[in-house]
Amino acid sequence: MHIAHLRTYFPADIYVRYQRKLGRDVLFFCGSDTHGTPITVKAEEQGTTPERIAKQYHEHFRQIFPRLGIFFDNYGSTNDPVNHHRTRAIAMNLIENGYIYQKDVTLPHCPSCDRFLPDRYMEGTCPHCGTDARGDECDQGCGVYLEPGEILNPRCTICGTTAEYKETSHQFLKLTAFESFLKEFLERLGGTENARNYAKGWLKGGLKDWNITRNLDWGIPFPGSKDLTFYVWFDAPIGYIGSTEEWAERTGGDWEHYWKGPGRLIHFIGGDIVYHHCLFWPSMLKGAGYSVPDAVVASGMVKVEGHNFSKAGAMYSGSRTSTLRRVWTLTRSVITLLATRVTQETLTLAGKPTRPSSTRNSWAFWGTSYTGASSSRTGTMVRYPRVSSSPR
Ligand SMILES: [Zn+2]
Ligand SMILES: [Zn+2]
Repeated sequence: MHIAHLRTYFPADIYVRYQRKLGRDVLFFCGSDTHGTPITVKAEEQGTTPERIAKQYHEHFRQIFPRLGIFFDNYGSTNDPVNHHRTRAIAMNLIENGYIYQKDVTLPHCPSCDRFLPDRYMEGTCPHCGTDARGDECDQGCGVYLEPGEILNPRCTICGTTAEYKETSHQFLKLTAFESFLKEFLERLGGTENARNYAKGWLKGGLKDWNITRNLDWGIPFPGSKDLTFYVWFDAPIGYIGSTEEWAERTGGDWEHYWKGPGRLIHFIGGDIVYHHCLFWPSMLKGAGYSVPDAVVASGMVKVEGHNFSKAGAMYSGSRTSTLRRVWTLTRSVITLLATRVTQETLTLAGKPTRPSSTRNSWAFWGTSYTGASSSRTGTMVRYPRVSSSPR
């Protein structure tokens, strides 16, 4: 974990504490996102298995949050059997409702490694802004999510060979079917303006159906397929539900109350994953018959010398003086964030305190974290007010 990640956890933690001060029942969850290609790439570099790397990071994060004074009601993992089960169940709901279909596509393939190049296995040029980008995101440029095959001049990150294109078959979520839902959803979505505005901008540019599978062994297998696993951004947010189910198993709580009931769901996330939380995730939930988020609070990117701080190794490159300056810049950013915007946002979100005498509320808060070897971590949360069953 690096300091820029705290910009998402601290606001969530402040918000949770604030709600608890108001006497509300609050649930605050977090978990490790284990299926990204940063993990498989790292495992290959170290000659070990993705599972071992994922476990190692999971343990690290599970232990580090209490040391930072952040206590989740559950810290889950997207590789937990519970999340495998929930991901397949949601996919089956989406298939039954006609939102997932199979399509032949032409994708970058490395002739020397003899494999397709999902996500971080490929680098190239962003077709939207011309910046160097990774396979599935333009993390140093316009921040947009890139569909497989969209990146220009792709080359293999493992061996550097220029990729060739090869035909294969993948599974797609019919994102275009959710356009009018998303339009209306973004109008009423609470949280920060940057989340809403980015998402609205992308929606205006027109949506494309979303490739939800990858040619990878590591991940959750797509039902009925031998060589496709779910794209990490399909099962990662489902980990929020998975983490609730882990909590429910342990405590006897009712996870469905939070995910299918009349509550409110709030995410605290990093600014680099707005696309996933404001377009993909609500569409998946809506299409599968679950509750959708009420608010998304996205922190801005912490920039150091013009680069987003989520870039791996940014803190350790360059001279010692330069590193010290970076650390100071970041510390200052975090302090400023905490002192101003964070407080404003959390208080605005919290709204007017309800009278404990007339209403009892239960709230759930969420966090997710990426255990990707080099990826960013984000905080997310959910809240659910529940009207008292004994009105006065
Ligand atoms: Zn290669
Ligand atoms: Zn770009």
